[in-house]
Amino acid sequence: MAERLLSHPPACKSATAVPYRGRFAPSPTGPLHAGSLVAALASWLDARVHGGAWLVRIEDVDTPRCRAGAAEFILGQLAACGLLPDEPVWWQSRRGDAYGAALQVLVEAGLAYPCGCTRAEIDALWAARGVAHRPGAERIYPGTCRAGLQGKPARAMRFRAEGVVHWHDRRLGPQMQDVAREVGDFVLERADGAWAYQMAVVVDDAAQGITHVVRGEDLADNTARQILLQRALTLPTPSYLHTPLVLAADGRKLSKQNGAWALDLSRPVPALQAAAQVLALPRIEAPTPQDWLHAARPAWAGIIASFANRSIA
Ligand SMILES: [Zn+2]
Repeated sequence: MAERLLSHPPACKSATAVPYRGRFAPSPTGPLHAGSLVAALASWLDARVHGGAWLVRIEDVDTPRCRAGAAEFILGQLAACGLLPDEPVWWQSRRGDAYGAALQVLVEAGLAYPCGCTRAEIDALWAARGVAHRPGAERIYPGTCRAGLQGKPARAMRFRAEGVVHWHDRRLGPQMQDVAREVGDFVLERADGAWAYQMAVVVDDAAQGITHVVRGEDLADNTARQILLQRALTLPTPSYLHTPLVLAADGRKLSKQNGAWALDLSRPVPALQAAAQVLALPRIEAPTPQDWLHAARPAWAGIIASFANRSIA
């Protein structure tokens, strides 16, 4: 089945070395902001330093939150910064058949099942046990529908999550999550028919032959779920590096939701310099984004070497 999911295998240059393939995968919920440029820049530099390919994938599966024209705007912003993908852009909204095939594999293996619970029912069940749901916190699924729908209509498809996942982050070091206890059986296909982020990312990372994931630290706590899915679908697990977040003036994470500003495209070099500062790169002066990116490569090589040394220490 892995072959069916890996329908677009990367061309291997040799039988032994797997060529580096990285990606930047923005959600088109608004323009690229300072925080997302950090992840885009780090993933681009990491691919270049490793002599690899850098791909862009538009994560437009969460259609209610996607804004018309935002994806094209983001691609324009990346281009203004000199960040051009090496292959045609992928769109998750066109990948439903692949996610459906993966879900079928999981259902047949007994690893995915229908759930008929509403959020209110899940909260009520925890409340009855004396646990209140905190806004913004993970809504842990108590496994109600593992034993069947009990006459309720199916709303979502969930993954049967079991086991503690240990993984290594190139910057953050050893990581661990007890997915069953901290998250519970998580959603693969939502009640509104939309594919869940975890499902789309895992299937597409494998289909695109991604070997290295470099993304913002806000996504780090999704990694264990994605590794469980990779194992269930017998797909390879890429290497992970989560980049530091840009904080808003009030110390909270900068995001499209709290009014993060769009990047000033008329001055791309200062935008790259600001992103570089978050990544602890030295200040680089250059007349054009292309010159700036070229000069930043050796600096990034030094940064990742320091991560590697710290991990060993
Ligand atoms: Zn349920």
